[in-house]
Amino acid sequence: MANPAFQSLHVLVVDDDTFMLELIGVTLKGLGVDKVGCASTGASALEAISNSTGQIDLLICDLNMPGMDGIEFLRHLAEREFREGVALISGEDSSILKTAETLAKEHELNFLGTFEKPVSRETLAGILERVGEGRRKGTRGPSEPITEEELRQGIHGDELTVFFQPKVSVASRELIGVESLVRWQHATRGMVFPDSFIQVAEKFDLIDDLTDAVFVKSMEQGGEWLSDGLDVKVSVNISVDSLNRLDLPEFIVNKAAKQGMDPSHVMLEVTESRLMEDIKKPLEILSRLRLKGIGLSIDDFGTGHSSMVQLKRFPFTELKIDRAFVNGAAKDDDARAILELSVDLAKKLGLSIVAEGVEDQDDWDMVAGLDIDLVQGYFVAKPMPGPEIGPWYEAYKAKSG
Ligand code: C2E
Ligand code: CA
Ligand code: CA
Repeated sequence: MANPAFQSLHVLVVDDDTFMLELIGVTLKGLGVDKVGCASTGASALEAISNSTGQIDLLICDLNMPGMDGIEFLRHLAEREFREGVALISGEDSSILKTAETLAKEHELNFLGTFEKPVSRETLAGILERVGEGRRKGTRGPSEPITEEELRQGIHGDELTVFFQPKVSVASRELIGVESLVRWQHATRGMVFPDSFIQVAEKFDLIDDLTDAVFVKSMEQGGEWLSDGLDVKVSVNISVDSLNRLDLPEFIVNKAAKQGMDPSHVMLEVTESRLMEDIKKPLEILSRLRLKGIGLSIDDFGTGHSSMVQLKRFPFTELKIDRAFVNGAAKDDDARAILELSVDLAKKLGLSIVAEGVEDQDDWDMVAGLDIDLVQGYFVAKPMPGPEIGPWYEAYKAKSG
């Protein structure tokens, strides 16, 4: 049956196989979609996107095409900041589909999933429904890019706030620490999340001001918890750009001390998002932070450049396994293999281990079966304003007995 909700959608199907194009096109029409476009190469699809008068709501793209393949196509979409739905289809085995999925997420595309060919009518209906859901939630559509001036004003006008997400012991369920996560309370945009402005801050040399503001707020909150008798370590994210600031160790220790926070209660989380060309300064800064007793965490382990090389070079004390290898790992052999290897490695190096992205009971059970120290994720708690941590913990203890 045709679904009237699908009628207004504009779908573009990209496949070099004309039979597939026909088949998917006819099925989409049968489901009620009025506007179905076809492209037989990635290049012509990009052209169609550029030339389209109305908005294209959904791209259904084959992975294996001569010329520009689906993977390359994803990169071009990301470069154009294509924000509408993207679904991938392939006749290949599921491991390549999974890789493509990881990439699509890395590119921050509005990714609706990977599907094996032939794609059934039910599957297509499911994809179309998800396009609609995104629209109803209002999560679709690009908002105006954040400008340098706007961010500068946000930072200096004290519009940044900090949320905190608990890290609990797997064994005892005790609250051991929190990670501080910046939020921007924007006058017209509403709450803006870090993924949309950290890179802007890095690009326009505002990251040090941002880090300073977040760090000071985090320490103020940490000091308040201590005086309320809540003994938690506070972890703050540090951009690699800040690891060129030779005064960082003094800044960190002084600001912490001012709020009565001992270095043993302060951690810095570092993700190496790009290769460090010259490691002399980062090495000096991290070593001095460590000498002063500040904890150092290697964040998003297993992704990007946060890898073995960094572990050997820098004096880390904690390893945070990226949620890509935690969430859903119970059902994903490859993810679990990486998770288990990371745990072994961390143990051999004497690092404590945090599993990020524990979202449900299955994730928790799997983590609990491995030698993992701490858990962070929605299953325990979402990030929240500092004053809510105390009451949350009371309720959590009561619930988990
Ligand atoms: P991150 O350091 O990996 O932080 C964890 C992110 O995962 C947070 O997103 C958190 O809300 C989210 N998260 C926590 N538990 C779960 C879960 O169970 N499932 C899922 N799907 N997600 C979960 P958030 O707050 O949007 O932060 C995004 C990233 O922005 C952070 O990733 C961090 O790299 C960066 N960031 C946040 N605050 C700061 C900051 O003050 N300075 C710098 N330089 N970067 C920051
Ligand atoms: Ca982090
Ligand atoms: Ca992380």
